[in-house]
Amino acid sequence: METPKSSTLFSQFYVLLVVFSISCSASSSPVQDNFVLCLNNQSSKIPFYAPNTPLYSTILQSSIKNLRFLSSTTPKPQLIVTPLDDSHVQASVICCRKHGLQLKVRSGGHDYEGLSYTSDVPFIVVDLVNIGSVDVNVEEGSAWVQAGATLGEVYYKIAEKSRTYGFPGGTCHTVGVGGHFSGGGYGTLARKFGLAADNIIDARLVNANGEILDRKSMGEDLFWAIRGGGGGSFGVVVAWKIKLVPVPQTVTVSMVSRFLEQGANALVLKWQSIAHTLPKELFIRVQLCRVDTRMRVTFQTMYLGTTDQLLKEVNQSFPELGLTSSDCAEMSWIQSILSFDDFPKDGALDVLLNRTQTLTRFFKAKSDFVKEPFSETILRGIWKQFYDADEAMQPMMFLSPYGGRLSEIGESEIPFPHRKEYINEVQHLAWWDKEGIEASNKNIDWLRRFYGYMTPYVSQSPRASYINYRDLDLGHSSNGTATYAQASAWGVKYFNNNFEKLVQVKSKFDPDNFFRNEQSIPVNGGEVPIELLNNIGVLHFERGELEVSRSFTDTGNWNYYDALRSEKRGPKLEATHLEKAKELYTKCSARLINPTLVLNHSTSNAYSEGITLLTKNLHLSMMDCKFICSF
Ligand SMILES: Cc1cc2nc3c(=O)[nH]c(=O)nc-3n(C[C@H](O)[C@H](O)[C@H](O)COP(=O)(O)OP(=O)(O)OC[C@H]3O[C@@H](n4cnc5c(N)ncnc54)[C@H](O)[C@@H]3O)c2cc1C
Repeated sequence: METPKSSTLFSQFYVLLVVFSISCSASSSPVQDNFVLCLNNQSSKIPFYAPNTPLYSTILQSSIKNLRFLSSTTPKPQLIVTPLDDSHVQASVICCRKHGLQLKVRSGGHDYEGLSYTSDVPFIVVDLVNIGSVDVNVEEGSAWVQAGATLGEVYYKIAEKSRTYGFPGGTCHTVGVGGHFSGGGYGTLARKFGLAADNIIDARLVNANGEILDRKSMGEDLFWAIRGGGGGSFGVVVAWKIKLVPVPQTVTVSMVSRFLEQGANALVLKWQSIAHTLPKELFIRVQLCRVDTRMRVTFQTMYLGTTDQLLKEVNQSFPELGLTSSDCAEMSWIQSILSFDDFPKDGALDVLLNRTQTLTRFFKAKSDFVKEPFSETILRGIWKQFYDADEAMQPMMFLSPYGGRLSEIGESEIPFPHRKEYINEVQHLAWWDKEGIEASNKNIDWLRRFYGYMTPYVSQSPRASYINYRDLDLGHSSNGTATYAQASAWGVKYFNNNFEKLVQVKSKFDPDNFFRNEQSIPVNGGEVPIELLNNIGVLHFERGELEVSRSFTDTGNWNYYDALRSEKRGPKLEATHLEKAKELYTKCSARLINPTLVLNHSTSNAYSEGITLLTKNLHLSMMDCKFICSF
């Protein structure tokens, strides 16, 4: 996918950028001036770029992967700061905070919705491109990786030191570890070793006070939250310490494609029933796409072993695939990284160091998690949706296998909760090349309809999503100001029960909500969420008042809560409110399966009293309630 270019050239380019910026950057508004003054007071050597300087656009665009956010109307930062070391990141945080500026941190710039470099309020981008060293310690089987490094750089540096160590992260070499590890990080080694975030053993983070914390000084709760709770909510991670994983000298890769008329559906049906049960060493991902008017399925296999061993495994568990040795190629683990990233396996490894974004396109994605295999009828329905899509569109679906190590790790071990209950994860994608709002709307509308079509066949209550495949359609707030209630709309889908703990950690470590974005973890405002099957509404307590906040449903049908919301609010929780709440709860219980009231006991006394009153008046027993207690 990427155009090869030498790493040396790249680093020379950035050295030039740095030197140029220190001498030539100029700011232009009072806010910028004050911020710059503050930065210079901290250190005279912090590179930054104002919009009126020549390199501003080059740097801004350098890591943008989604062309949707490269338009003239995309909001641009007031300044881009490119720190050279941790102290520059600290200075950026301190100065943004002092001058009330929104800070967005960018590592690899691959956020699906551009949240690392766009905002709906004036903002500063802190781009970690110059903080990207990778220090591998083969004796210890670990590495310290600065957050601005790309996955390609990490993999390359590991392979430079050892051919028997690897790391379980994603398959695209330009993805940054800052965002990727913060949200999980799924790749071809996930069934054997889990996610990237499952293999992080320490970190350095700049908090909202501008202090640097490591695992020991931040404590286990914050360390838990930053490994999968999503970037941009808890601080700026400046480095991760990762645990390397053992890989054999020889691995085997194969890519086998079949069109619909060649029996592709039967293969997908079989794959769904076995992919999550296969030995951990065997990873088979499925890609569904349309090639002109033909529908094609590609089985992308990575096996930690030789071709002979792979054929033995596959011919036993998945003989229908008809895999032969001519479909397979033996290689080293690092060559498999090239291969999965569309580079020739025998090509130079240093293409992995190239950060240049080529072949960037417009795209929108959504994700789902699957518990039960799709039937043939569902598969036919999927193909029909692909077939009906406009000719200029390129609909695509990736089905990634779960099971193996992913299922062994507990749901709350890190914030990424999607574990043993799932057989696979689906990514729905629409790609397009034509500029303009019309093409964009057409593609995004199609994807939303497709997502609607998939609703009955994927996880429910919540309809789980993967934060690294960020989707603002799940809900978002302006400038990261979501209440708990609003943030539950996406938080529960991304993090399920771990959302509660993330809110607690956020409230403790960043109570002023300095680190925020349109889908960040909110600070606890004292709400009582009621989760009802596929729908989430929230009873919200504040200063003794009961209110039903905005409701979030896939269908938009929330009349019961709207009725309660329109109730007159008094200064106190009044009997009428409680009667109404009880009535609504009863109605909802009758209408929906298994309603759950989630109570949070973490805030003030008044709030706890409110909860007691509510539970008492709703006549809920402990059996009806799922208490999430965090004191
Ligand atoms: C082409 C492509 C391929 C991908 N392949 C995979 C894959 O194989 N597997 C997979 O799991 N995911 C994959 N992803 C998704 C990817 O993991 C996420 O988009 C990830 O968040 C990108 O990290 P980044 O640093 O490049 O992004 P950025 O846009 O820089 O950051 C993403 C988010 O994290 C925040 N953030 C960034 N750096 C830091 C930091 N240092 N400290 C705190 N917060 C930070 C940002 O503010 C933003 O909110 C892919 C994405 C793309 C575009």
